[in-house]
Amino acid sequence: MSDVIVIGGGLAGLAASVALAQAGVKVTLLESRPRLGGRASSFEDAATGELIDNCQHVAMGCCTNFRHFCRVTGLAPYFRDEEQLTFVGPPDPSGRQPPKFCRFAATPILGAPFHLGHALWGLDYLSFRDKFAIARGLFSLWKARPLTSDLTSFAEWLGRQRQPASAIEYFWNVVLVSALSESLDRISLAYGRKVFVDGFLTNREGWKVSLPTVPLDELYSGTLAQWLAAHDVEVRLKTGVERLVMDEGAISAVELRNGERLAARQFVLAVTQQRALALLPESIRTLPQHAVIERLETAPIASVHLWFDRPITLLPHAVLVGRLSQWVFNRSRGEGRGARGESALPVSPHPSYYQVVISNAREMSERPQSDVVAEVVAELKAIWPWAADAELRHSRVIIEHHAVFSPLPGSEDLRPAQQSPIENLQLAGDWTQTGWPATMEGAVRSGFLAAENVLTKIGRPAKWLQPDLP
Ligand SMILES: Cc1cc2nc3c(=O)[nH]c(=O)nc-3n(C[C@H](O)[C@H](O)[C@H](O)COP(=O)(O)OP(=O)(O)OC[C@H]3O[C@@H](n4cnc5c(N)ncnc54)[C@H](O)[C@@H]3O)c2cc1C
Repeated sequence: MSDVIVIGGGLAGLAASVALAQAGVKVTLLESRPRLGGRASSFEDAATGELIDNCQHVAMGCCTNFRHFCRVTGLAPYFRDEEQLTFVGPPDPSGRQPPKFCRFAATPILGAPFHLGHALWGLDYLSFRDKFAIARGLFSLWKARPLTSDLTSFAEWLGRQRQPASAIEYFWNVVLVSALSESLDRISLAYGRKVFVDGFLTNREGWKVSLPTVPLDELYSGTLAQWLAAHDVEVRLKTGVERLVMDEGAISAVELRNGERLAARQFVLAVTQQRALALLPESIRTLPQHAVIERLETAPIASVHLWFDRPITLLPHAVLVGRLSQWVFNRSRGEGRGARGESALPVSPHPSYYQVVISNAREMSERPQSDVVAEVVAELKAIWPWAADAELRHSRVIIEHHAVFSPLPGSEDLRPAQQSPIENLQLAGDWTQTGWPATMEGAVRSGFLAAENVLTKIGRPAKWLQPDLP
């Protein structure tokens, strides 16, 4: 019998398993799908035979727990930190001027919170008035006390700050929609503030974007699975849990979909909030603090995968302002760096493969995919006219309808603690109480917190939660 059963092989369940296994605890990890990684995973594209990520996943320097998780498990060398971003200004309404390309990077000599001041100033598609208003807004967020639960939306706050419409559309909206996948009226001030303060203002390293250089499946079903095996974690894929079995006020076992029962002393339920509600015993599901989980809304993210016959840009990635396409990532051969720094690591064996990410993609669900592809391709060709003749060989649109929970005003109060009312049951997942929005960082934090609770209960206390950047 295992000491602990972890249900769910997404980042939350993986982080909990890693922390427990490091302490010498015997863990069994149950995952219903044939691969690890949960929402951060890849699948095989039937047309090209390539392993493609369901969506480009980006971490930032401020994701201290995700980075720690990667260091401990040997995944860190498979990430590349970016020292600069490129913002592509909105299309010229008259169509005569080419878009502005603006380099965004920290100034070497200035410390936080001023290190990105010059970069903000360099966003040439913003007017002087916009930049001044944005700087004023950022200062006001910086000096506000951290807010944990609040009922104000970011849109309301921007109104109170008298931010110009163009600053809202081309700056606040651009950053927050891609970070939180919601419209500004559906983002609480607390979550919005967190993105800017933790990501851009607190520490020089916070804003840096970190990208995997191999498909996500290779990270989690490959390197990480090997780490788990070496640390005696039993991973059972294609093993769906049907229900948790209660016995005298505690969980005694899990019942699998095939009827098998597995017993353990402690349990970590690391599935999405919808699945957790279905699996929790009736007596717990109906408690006020858990019944409200149902009210956590979700937001969709779409990724448009494009294979051209030739390169359309040599930039590794770009933020596209004022368009349907929000980020473009060049996933072609040569854009990666391997574990030992070698170049030309085949993220994709295809020379001209790009991923375009569209967060808050509600509107896209109702559109034919061919329409979406046509609009995205037209946008890319308008930005890089020299690629106008590039021929689209293959495309795929993937919409994750419940990608992340919506950071609505008041949503913080709907998130439960990791310790459930059942003494030997922990909850984990990006939707539990972590203080973070739905991110890989939030998921890893929840897994570490759940593991810390288990370790304390079994008399082997250990600290896993990492501090924020100073
Ligand atoms: C399209 C998209 C883009 C994203 N982009 C980013 C990004 O750029 N940066 C970022 O930080 N975050 C991003 N996220 C969010 C990030 O992927 C999630 O926050 C994180 O992966 C959630 O991890 P989790 O372990 O909490 O949940 P999940 O990954 O959902 O894991 C839950 C696991 O439980 C399994 N499971 C469910 N039911 C059962 C059962 N009955 N028995 C056994 N197993 C079960 C599931 O199969 C799944 O593997 C993105 C998400 C999506 C969908």
